[in-house]
Amino acid sequence: MKICVFCGSSFGTDPIYKSAAEAVGHAFAERDIELVYGGGQVGLMGTVADAVLAGGGRVTGVIPRALHDRELAHHGLTSLVVVESMHERKAAMAERADGFVSLPGGAGTLEEAFEQWTWAQLGIHAKPNGFLNVKGYFEPLRTMIEKCVAEGFVKSQHAAMLKFSDDIGEIIDAFTDYEAPAHKWTGHGEAVKP
Ligand code: AMP
Repeated sequence: MKICVFCGSSFGTDPIYKSAAEAVGHAFAERDIELVYGGGQVGLMGTVADAVLAGGGRVTGVIPRALHDRELAHHGLTSLVVVESMHERKAAMAERADGFVSLPGGAGTLEEAFEQWTWAQLGIHAKPNGFLNVKGYFEPLRTMIEKCVAEGFVKSQHAAMLKFSDDIGEIIDAFTDYEAPAHKWTGHGEAVKP
């Protein structure tokens, strides 16, 4: 299995986030899961990659040339793919992975996670999305999503596509058993293309 991780290019203020990123890396290496990620050496991104590599696992990074040239890329990866734009990068990561896990992060992390959730809702792919809920970091997001469902903007089966847990093993197990629901516009023709 290949899992794409979205996470902070910073460490956050609490060392618990770095420890959680290390635990994710160890779990991937132990379960022979290849890490696909943004290819950076900074923050939690670099931590997850280093932990997978330290455990003897495989890591593919996909980084836009602009970030690569600013020397933000991790040069010890199993494979580093350099692409021309952020859009190309997200498509390349999505294509390579069987599912997506978000660790605590900022705007970049949230944008990447929500794009993949949107694509899954539209049937562009049928891949699962998880949030590693370290120290309840994603609780406000869960509350927002519940609000979206309650107000009729998100269907409950699409909210249920998202797996929240503070245990990476539980998220990986949920991915193994995952069955995608019908896409958003079922009955209105084919799923849209990206
Ligand atoms: P953020 O959560 O705003 O720190 O952004 C992190 C996400 O955006 C990661 O999952 C990356 O895919 C991307 N990203 C942001 N900064 C970098 C960087 N310096 N190198 C590589 N990817 C980055």
